[in-house]
This record gives sequence, C-alpha cells and structure tokens, in this order.
Amino acid sequence: MAMSPLSKAAPEHVIVVGAGMVGLSTAWFLQQRGVQVTVLERSAVAAGASWGNAGWITPAMAIPLAEPAVLKYGMKAVLDPSAPLHVPISLDPPLWSFLLRFAARCTGPTWRKTMAALAPLNIAALDAYDELETDPGMHAALRSGPILAAFQEGEHADGLLLEFDHIREAGLELEASDVPLSQLAELAPVVSSNVSRAIRIDGQRFMNPGAYVAALADAVRSRGGEVREGADVRGLRHGPGGIFVDLVGAAPVHGDAVVLATGAWLPTLAKQYGVRTSLRAGRGYSFSVSQPTDGKQVNNPIYFPYERIVCTPLGDTGRIRMGGTMEFQPTDAPLYPQRIESIVENAMPLVEGLDLSDRQDEWVGARPVTVDGLPLVGPTKAPGVWVHGGHGMWGMCQGPATARLLAEQIVTGRAPDALRPLTPTR
Ligand SMILES: Cc1cc2nc3c(=O)[nH]c(=O)nc-3n(C[C@H](O)[C@H](O)[C@H](O)COP(=O)(O)OP(=O)(O)OC[C@H]3O[C@@H](n4cnc5c(N)ncnc54)[C@H](O)[C@@H]3O)c2cc1C
Repeated sequence: MAMSPLSKAAPEHVIVVGAGMVGLSTAWFLQQRGVQVTVLERSAVAAGASWGNAGWITPAMAIPLAEPAVLKYGMKAVLDPSAPLHVPISLDPPLWSFLLRFAARCTGPTWRKTMAALAPLNIAALDAYDELETDPGMHAALRSGPILAAFQEGEHADGLLLEFDHIREAGLELEASDVPLSQLAELAPVVSSNVSRAIRIDGQRFMNPGAYVAALADAVRSRGGEVREGADVRGLRHGPGGIFVDLVGAAPVHGDAVVLATGAWLPTLAKQYGVRTSLRAGRGYSFSVSQPTDGKQVNNPIYFPYERIVCTPLGDTGRIRMGGTMEFQPTDAPLYPQRIESIVENAMPLVEGLDLSDRQDEWVGARPVTVDGLPLVGPTKAPGVWVHGGHGMWGMCQGPATARLLAEQIVTGRAPDALRPLTPTR
C-alpha cells in the first residue's frame, strides 16, 4: 500500500455523482466506513446502464473484451448491419481512433495483462455483494444458479472452453461441465432442439438489476444518506472548506470530497481533472418477454455465445430479459429498433415456447467502455475529486468490489494494491 498524494484527513461528507450500481455501491461502502453521503442523480435511480442489463454477477466470466477472436469477428461485423457488434460507418475520427487502439490490444499477451489486473476484482466480487447483503435495510438478494451456455454447432463451444482455460490460468475458479442433452430441457426448458451442445457454469449469481439497484438506493437512504433524483451536475468548484457541486437550476451542494460515477457520461465531468483514458459508450439493447405459460419456467440465465445473446429470468415478475449487441454510437443517441429486431431474428432459431413478438421494456443502455479494458477507480489531479467507473461489460459484477476498495482509499488515504492499475490518470 502507498499513501495517495492527495490524502489528507478522511472526508466526513462525500458527494457521489450518479445513482447507478457503481455510484450507489460507492455510497454504501463509504457509509460502511462512517462517511456521510449525498448521491446526486440527474435523472432517476438506475436511469443509465444499470437498469436493463443482464444482471449477471459472474466473476468467472468477467473478462476483457479485447481478445484476438473479437478482432476477427469485429472485421466481419462492421460489414453486417444485423451483427451483434455494430459500428456506424461514419466520419467520427475520435471513434475510429478509439477502435484502432482497441483493435491493437486484441492480442493474447495484452489480454493476459488486462486479465491479471481484473482478477483481484473478480475474486472479491461475490464477497463484496455478501457484505452489502448483510445490511438489514437491503431488501434484495442475488440469486444463485447455473449459467447455461448453449450452441447450435457443437464445435463453437471449443472457443468458450479455451477461454475458460485462460481464465483459470489467471487464477479464477471456474466450474464448467458439458450438460447431457437429455438434461437440457430441465435446465433450460426454452432452448430449441437446434441446440446440440450446452455447457453449464456453476458458482455464479444473477439479479433483476433495476430492482436490485432501487433496493440499494433505499438501503443508502435508510442508513441516513441522501439520494437526490433530478439533480443534474454541471460542474465542481473548489472553495473554502471543500468542494461545491453546481447543479442545473438548483443551489450548489457542498461536501469534503466528490466521487464522479457517471457511467458512460464520465468524460464530460472528469476530463478536466486529468482523466484522459478514452471511454466510449458500447451500447447494448434488451427487452423482456413472458415466461412460457405451459409451466416450463426459466429459472437460471442462458447464454448463446455464438449469437451473443443473453437471457435472464427477472425474479417474480414472470418475465425473462433478452439482450445483446455492442453498438458504438453516441451515448445519448436514440434507441434504434433495428438492433432489437436483429436480436429477435438471431434468437428465433435458438428458443421455443417464448413469444418474441410480445415484447415489453425495449431498452438501450450505454456500457462505459475504456480503450484499455480497465475501470477507472481512484483520485484525479484535483484534490478531493475521485472517479469511479469505466467497468464496460461488467459494472454490475465488479462495481461493489471496486467501491469497497475505493472507500478504503478515500478514508485511509492509502491505495489498495488492486486499485493501482486502475488509477484514473494513467
Ligand atoms: C445490454 C447490457 C447487458 C449488460 N449485462 C451486464 C451483466 O450481466 N453483468 C454486468 O456486470 N454488467 C453488465 N452490463 C454492464 C453494466 O450495465 C454497466 O457496466 C454498469 O451498469 C455501469 O454502471 P454505472 O453506475 O457506472 O453507470 P450507469 O448505470 O450508466 O449510471 C450512471 C448514472 O450517472 C447519471 N449521470 C450522468 N451524468 C450526470 C450528471 N451530470 N449529473 C448527475 N447524474 C449524472 C446517469 O443518469 C446515470 O444514472 C451490461 C450492459 C448492457 C448495456
């Protein structure tokens, strides 16, 4: 551990900007260390990526996006408008610079280096959730159950199994086994007969993310924190005795320190404080359909890796969320219905007993994707201004683990070893 150059006395009151999974877990772990918190959210709790995502808390699968297979796949996808990866053919030099730098990182050695930095976060992920769930005010819990990866072509599973070997080499525990086809109907009753091979991954968890994040906001409030919706932060000012957070159309809020946890919008506020790592919105889509009415409930997540489609049962809502796509469009671009249609089209041969035409909650959300595949967690160049975000595909899974580490650093002034590679001014 090393002393942070910005460490002074522990702050008594911290303002967290952004009420997604990352901001709210930061607030909760700061409270755990006796800090008073105010969370400022310009829209509503879980208004960003933390609502319609797949809710997989699967540390054994939270791996870097940049890998050699993605590069090969990406080249093909650029030319195919219905592919799960979508890059607009447009004149956007910063986007192309981002994608070229991302592509240069799709190598085995870089993947291993990035994975080594993510491994401690993944190892701590479930334990951080367990700590959150000790709070009597936290009225939501993760669910346990196997994740089932299903393939139409048996040999397509080989790539996933190879990836699993690399994950184990990085020090993560991963239990995976082939499922005899005779047991498939019991584990995943909606998988169609086109599926010829399935792998079961154990020891992971999942949630209904919108409901979970709303429960976390309530837990922060019930411990005395304020979670203010409709509070649009436009800037920060250092002043006597702390930092003033300026809001659009409302009086400033004053605190001893500020954590910026604004997801894919992070660069807007953080850039001026020395956070230069390129971060883009990797937008994903989802919708929900009814559980089958014939009594064959989907009780655990299903993953179609080749088509890059995920399915998650949403607890007692009677619905299943289906999602996918990685679309590099501006963060606030509208929902493009053709992306939903292409998920439906790709899912059609994979499932049966689900009415994919009767969809609700069609949604697009922006994953905060950093060019180097690592989250941004730690101090900025401005005293008392911290950043927490950039978890890309895995903010639900890793958010509480990085929140716990960040709260430790904010309060003690010492940077935990696991946060060193994530320093936001790298
Ligand atoms: C389709 C899809 C599936 C996914 N599946 C998974 C999964 O299974 N497991 C997993 O771990 N991750 C998954 N992810 C990724 C995950 O959703 C994100 O990494 C995570 O939600 C990021 O959380 P966040 O709190 O950083 O950002 P967000 O949830 O986007 O929160 C940022 C918040 O900041 C607010 N904000 C922005 N600017 C301001 C401002 N100026 N003032 C005040 N508030 C502001 C926004 O309104 C927003 O509420 C998925 C993502 C997608 C799109």
